[in-house]
Amino acid sequence: MSSQSKRALIVVDVQNDFCPGGSLAVARGDEVIEPLNKLIQEFLERGEPVFKTRDWHPSQTKHFADFGGAWPVHCVQNTKGAEFHRALLDDLHIRVISKGLGDEDSYSGFDGTDLALQLRRLGVEEVWVGGLATDYCVKNTVLDALKEGFRVKALADAMRPVELKSGDGARALNEMRDAGAEVVDHTQLRTQDYVDPVIEAYKDGIDLTLIRRNLALSVDERFEQLMSLQQLAEELRAAGKRVSG
Ligand SMILES: [Zn+2]
Repeated sequence: MSSQSKRALIVVDVQNDFCPGGSLAVARGDEVIEPLNKLIQEFLERGEPVFKTRDWHPSQTKHFADFGGAWPVHCVQNTKGAEFHRALLDDLHIRVISKGLGDEDSYSGFDGTDLALQLRRLGVEEVWVGGLATDYCVKNTVLDALKEGFRVKALADAMRPVELKSGDGARALNEMRDAGAEVVDHTQLRTQDYVDPVIEAYKDGIDLTLIRRNLALSVDERFEQLMSLQQLAEELRAAGKRVSG
């Protein structure tokens, strides 16, 4: 198996206002949730970082049409519309990146945030990006990730476009591809064979199936296993004392 670089998943703006029923709803926007949940789960199970970005606007911003911008009011801080869709997986290990806190449009998850810094600190080299919407926040996040030097997989079947003009979604995908992103369907990606590169380096003579099984365990399950090992060790020590004593 070839060694693989460290990856992170970036889930862009899967918030109520961008989903059907929201104030800036993307048609079939909620369809991104199922493939993204699958990926979120896989990344977390392998201990790989997952980021969720969110539009997090003040009630008055030049981003909104009422104040000279292009968009209806959406994703105002601490409102229902700004919350992540409730079907999107949540987990304590997921990092949330808030953007659009001022007057700028801030379509990109990198714009005015420490996302690039966090990714570098984690040693990430490749990011997988999906979410809402293809022709705005996803596109700009992908383009900025490339500018920041990350390899990018754009998850075409896990994003949906606004399409103010018909064809904007397809054009956005072409723009991402031209800039160097690999545009893929998430189903093409065989993530289950992935083995952490640190483990890969030690793999000579060890049984990878055990490692894979362990990587598939939840944090709770790993903790339970650790506790039962500790208990076993204590019992052995107690037995040893009885024998030697
Ligand atoms: Zn916005």
